[in-house]
Amino acid sequence: MEGLLMCAPTTDSPALRVTSLFLSIDGEVNARGQGTPSFFIRLAGCNLRCWQRFGGCDTVYSFGPGTRMSVEELLARVDAAGCPKVTLTGGEPLLQKGAALAALLRGLRERGVFVSMETNGSIAPDFEGRECVGSLVYDYKCPSTGCTAAMQPFAALFRSLGSSDYMKFVLRDPADYAFARERVLEARELRDGRPCPVLAFSPMLPTAADGLPPDALVAQLLADRLFEVQVNIQMHKYVWPDAKTEV
Ligand code: SF4
Repeated sequence: MEGLLMCAPTTDSPALRVTSLFLSIDGEVNARGQGTPSFFIRLAGCNLRCWQRFGGCDTVYSFGPGTRMSVEELLARVDAAGCPKVTLTGGEPLLQKGAALAALLRGLRERGVFVSMETNGSIAPDFEGRECVGSLVYDYKCPSTGCTAAMQPFAALFRSLGSSDYMKFVLRDPADYAFARERVLEARELRDGRPCPVLAFSPMLPTAADGLPPDALVAQLLADRLFEVQVNIQMHKYVWPDAKTEV
């Protein structure tokens, strides 16, 4: 693992605003599997403020303006890392959708790099360069985040994603589980034989006192016979439980 690498300023165009670049493992669900080594491009800025009543999310350092980096420089960093997978995350990476993001995605595809993109559910997957994303991972916000009203309509999102994509629910407490369970039941009604995304439940770690620990989540999921759901233990939080910034 490589630590936080702050980026050198650049005035080149097209450019993206970047919080950090680092080599690690991808602890979240994606079509290449959890634990896959990946070069992370953490883009700057977020349109949501999740878990404000619990002190905020664990990525507040991505809220700032970041540092402008040209697509050329970003691709050079990817080349130097030599890793065949890139994870684009944030913040909210789709706040920067447009020509620069599309150029980055196309450059990665030309290199044969597999891309997973983590996005927060508030922006539809109709961005330029979408075809270059191997796995689009939608983090669909549950009630504890205070951000469910900002989510795209579930049915439209579910129908617009493919079998290499994910809709993930991070569950803090039983109310979140009930919300996610309703979405799973809704998805059953939407399945019509076309490819559809994988649904994943992820217990929030560390577990809060009034929270939903992983063993309770699994027991409830099996009792409810939600057999189409994949349980996602956020691997990076297990490997680096005390990390304050990047892992
Ligand atoms: S979408 Fe992600 S980065 Fe933005 S506030 Fe929510 S958890 Fe934090």
